[in-house]
Amino acid sequence: MRRCVLAAAAACLLLLAACAQGETKAWEGELLAMDTIMKLTLYGENAPQAGAAAMDRIRELEGLLSVTGEGSDVYRANHTGSAQLSPDAAALLDRALALCRETDGALDVTVYPVVRAWGFTTGEYRVPDDGELEALLERVDYRQATLEGDRVTLPEGVELDLGGVAKGYTGDQLMALLEGEGVASAIVELGGNVQALGAKPDGSPWRVALQAPEGGYAGVLEIVDRAVVTSGGYQRYFEQDGEIYWHIIDPAQGRPARSGLQSVTIVAEEGTLCDGLSTALFVMGRERALDFWRTREDFECVLISEDNTVAVTEGLEESFSLYGDWEGRPLEIIRR
Ligand code: ADP
Ligand code: MG
Repeated sequence: MRRCVLAAAAACLLLLAACAQGETKAWEGELLAMDTIMKLTLYGENAPQAGAAAMDRIRELEGLLSVTGEGSDVYRANHTGSAQLSPDAAALLDRALALCRETDGALDVTVYPVVRAWGFTTGEYRVPDDGELEALLERVDYRQATLEGDRVTLPEGVELDLGGVAKGYTGDQLMALLEGEGVASAIVELGGNVQALGAKPDGSPWRVALQAPEGGYAGVLEIVDRAVVTSGGYQRYFEQDGEIYWHIIDPAQGRPARSGLQSVTIVAEEGTLCDGLSTALFVMGRERALDFWRTREDFECVLISEDNTVAVTEGLEESFSLYGDWEGRPLEIIRR
């Protein structure tokens, strides 16, 4: 029998003690967008007006970037094979294609036909057979998508999905918007993505909790002006004949990536980078992921392996700590 399990809609990262702000009053907004719950917490005089502008911006980006929304840029590209993109969609696709190249295809923005075949787009889950996957994989290759200026061109059968990076881009756009509106202190939760502008109003860092694979929290990160994005096999999955299948696909195989990792959390200034790399490093697995990290200066990460060991790159040594039941478990600091 097939059993479908949907992880709770709750973000994989939750804010701890977000309300302990003493005197400073927060403006809080919540909306449903991009298939997830989004929460904005803003401080300062301009917060209400900035918050309203931020909500509008989220809806605008959802309209442009959704893969299913008729009339979105991505929908038009997928249904016509060639489309002129809005500045947002063009900027995001450009950044996403660069990340596909840099991760050697561990992130692949054309994996959509495979994701759909497994039912992750609709919730009607199934396990495609080898022949079906082999045929679908011919349509998966980010190098077949060409972006010239603001025009994207896709060969027959190739489809784009920016869903793996859209929330990260949205976070970046919100940070820029809020800063422009004169907000100095804010934190946004876009599903499992968390992104902070500045520090808390009292000057202390934000505390962001990392979800443990079995529920509860595994650790806490202290951040200022950073994005934190987690990709975990436990976030969206189904079970069939005793096997678990999750929504992060290895584009080389067309199957859920089984790399020995349960979750990857990326911490960086740029949300788009965090979003793309959390998916890509999950596909790579621990050793490849750490080799990749050693070649870069622009992010840090927390990897939770299947045996529940936690590896943290050295840039997070001071800001990460294990939490609750996870305190006292093995924690490895990875050096360059
Ligand atoms: P979520 O969107 O659930 O927060 P991710 O950011 O990790 O999680 O993105 C996963 C989504 O991206 C999947 O639901 C799927 O649509 C798509 N996806 C899965 N595997 C890949 C991949 N290797 N490269 C690009 N997109 C992927
Ligand atoms: Mg992602």
